[in-house]
Amino acid sequence: MFRMYDLIEKKQRGKALSEEEISFFVSGVTDGSIPDYQISAFLMAVYFKGMTKEETFLLTDAMAHSGDTADLSAIKGKKADKHSTGGVGDKTSLIVAPMVAAANCGVSVAKMSGRGLGHTGGTVDKLESIKGVKTTLPANEFIDVVNKTGLCIIGQSGSFAPADKKLYALRDVTATVDCIPLIAASIMSKKLAAGSDCIVLDVKCGSGAFIKKPDQAEKLAEMMVEIGESAGKKTVALITNMDVPLGNAVGNSLEVIEATEVLSGKGDKNLTELCVALASNMLYASGIGEYNDCENRIRQTIADVSAKNKLKEMIDAMGGDGNYILDTSLFRESNISAVLAAEKTGYITKTDTEGVGKAAAVLGAGRTVKDAPIDHSAGIILHKKTGDFIREGEALATLYTSSVEKAQNGMELLYRSVTIGKNPPEEKPLIFKTIRGRK
Ligand code: URA
Repeated sequence: MFRMYDLIEKKQRGKALSEEEISFFVSGVTDGSIPDYQISAFLMAVYFKGMTKEETFLLTDAMAHSGDTADLSAIKGKKADKHSTGGVGDKTSLIVAPMVAAANCGVSVAKMSGRGLGHTGGTVDKLESIKGVKTTLPANEFIDVVNKTGLCIIGQSGSFAPADKKLYALRDVTATVDCIPLIAASIMSKKLAAGSDCIVLDVKCGSGAFIKKPDQAEKLAEMMVEIGESAGKKTVALITNMDVPLGNAVGNSLEVIEATEVLSGKGDKNLTELCVALASNMLYASGIGEYNDCENRIRQTIADVSAKNKLKEMIDAMGGDGNYILDTSLFRESNISAVLAAEKTGYITKTDTEGVGKAAAVLGAGRTVKDAPIDHSAGIILHKKTGDFIREGEALATLYTSSVEKAQNGMELLYRSVTIGKNPPEEKPLIFKTIRGRK
């Protein structure tokens, strides 16, 4: 029998915990027998002393098995999952999942996604801007939708990795979120519990991401790939640029509309290229063929509009009105729109992307308290982004919201998030690095 006091002290001294000690900790977190103050003290000790690779694997595995695990064996063929560490304007799941399903090579996407929190958006909120979509489905219906259409995206059930739910809530209030072993265990425990055969991770790095520095993003990506591979899943991580919002739309229905534009071949170039890279990696990791062949198959799903039709099929199968995908004028428009104009002529040299996410949240697109209602039509369309030239008085962005007060607050935050200067900034790549398992 272990005592939590001894585990805290051991970690505080920088010693590695055994499998039994980690298992005791995770069981106690899950069944509530360890009080929050001891869990918090332990998290702070890990924050300062870190964890070995071995400890991180053991923690992830114990958290993954702390609740239900998905049985996807009734789904035919390979199952590929993707996960983004969170960003602003990140609507990639709505584009990537239908691309993979439409490529028609026996790879399905049975995906559980989250809601937005703080400055980052969540796929489930975006999907719910479409009339009628049910993002909570019983397991058998979830599997039926995947078998019928090749994909389904639902909300993450609370019964999966409950230890992570508890730990994340405590990390959020004890300043222990940005800790690589804890982030890796949190994300990978949910991915392992979700049951797919391969996992493609989009590790965001920059001013709009939880991880701001490239060396930290690389450490996290390497750690998650090793965890996935040692659990027998083909795992790939792309470290991608989140110094600027992804695409031009930030906000739920605005982002679904932008997703349909990409799927029609008329989308933002960077957003399109990132989605093609993520989807191609999902096919490649599933063993479909050479990378170039996978990429060609994915590009074809945009050219022949099959991916857009797949998204409609999925929405219809989830009880929603798939016509929203074909005719985006069906989305409800916000009551108020306001234009932010450039105060001077020059290049946009820098964007505080977290600030853009916060501005969208203030307009009504996000929530600061869990489960608070959101305004699906609220958000921002950026007309110019980092690197673009803009003239004084030209429209930088249009803001959509429901009240003059929210428009003013959002405008203020957005104004402070964009810097205009004389010279163009140094261009940064969209994908910094791709990390694959060694097997
Ligand atoms: N996303 C997660 O699910 N967990 C973390 O710890 C950070 C981002």
